[in-house]
Amino acid sequence: MDLTSPKTIRAIQEKFGFTFKKGLGQNFLTSREVLEDISDAAEIENGVIEIGPGFGVLTAQLAAESKKVVTIELDERLIDVLAYTLSDFDNVKIINADVLKLDLKKLIDDEFNGERVSIAANLPYYITTPIISKLLEERLPIKNIVVMVQKEVAARMAAEPSSKDYGAITVMCRYFTEPSIVTDVPAQLFVPRPKVDSAVLKLRVLDKPSVVVIDEKMFFRVVKAAFSQRRKTLLNCLCANFPIPKDEMSSLLESVGVTPSRRGETLSLQEFADVTDAILHRIN
Ligand code: SAM
Repeated sequence: MDLTSPKTIRAIQEKFGFTFKKGLGQNFLTSREVLEDISDAAEIENGVIEIGPGFGVLTAQLAAESKKVVTIELDERLIDVLAYTLSDFDNVKIINADVLKLDLKKLIDDEFNGERVSIAANLPYYITTPIISKLLEERLPIKNIVVMVQKEVAARMAAEPSSKDYGAITVMCRYFTEPSIVTDVPAQLFVPRPKVDSAVLKLRVLDKPSVVVIDEKMFFRVVKAAFSQRRKTLLNCLCANFPIPKDEMSSLLESVGVTPSRRGETLSLQEFADVTDAILHRIN
């Protein structure tokens, strides 16, 4: 069964009386080339977790390339469809759940003996950031996260410091991973066609975070504060968020070599780490 063919998609819709739910981001991929790009970039070793299989087009590709696929689908109507479209594979487990509510640590322990897995997904756009934050912040044994996301979101997640796309989400991605864009995917490669273009983003999870910080929570508080008002200086953003007088904050920044009049988006991860440690030192 060629699940990339719009004709097959229509036939399955008719067979199961299935209508797309826009609210669940149901835009199905029809490009074999992109499926192969996702699967190659995932560099699957032990197994792979897929989020949001839809009719199973990517699931089938992953199942052909790996020992085991666990796929998580929220839409109950798709469970019977997937049993039908994936009936040729005996290495796929389908879980009907909301990925944001799942205990993924337990799932990896139970299904993959706690070994490092890859994550692959064509994500519903409205939950891209919460899913990626969950995958990274829970410190799960993950090798690579390869996800199709809105093109602009991919650009933000993989941005370089000082570029226009650099923001708090970039810092989170670059703290835990090495991000890169695998390929751009135009809207016409989906059924139904979405309003926006997409890109496949790869996040290679680092063995340890890219910079050393004393207090991770505080690091992300500082980052969030620094980007809270893009047109304001770093000094003003930090003073609005931490109870430190302006003149003290100013000399604190200078003590770590950061000019107070700079904007948050010009700081490297190491500079954010230095500022965080200096604030902590001042507060404690
Ligand atoms: N993988 C298929 C493909 O590439 O064509 C479908 C991708 S479609 C963009 C996103 C899928 O995620 C849909 O099947 C949708 O029902 C599912 N989904 C949406 N929210 C979800 C959630 N919170 N947890 C798990 N799956 C979800």
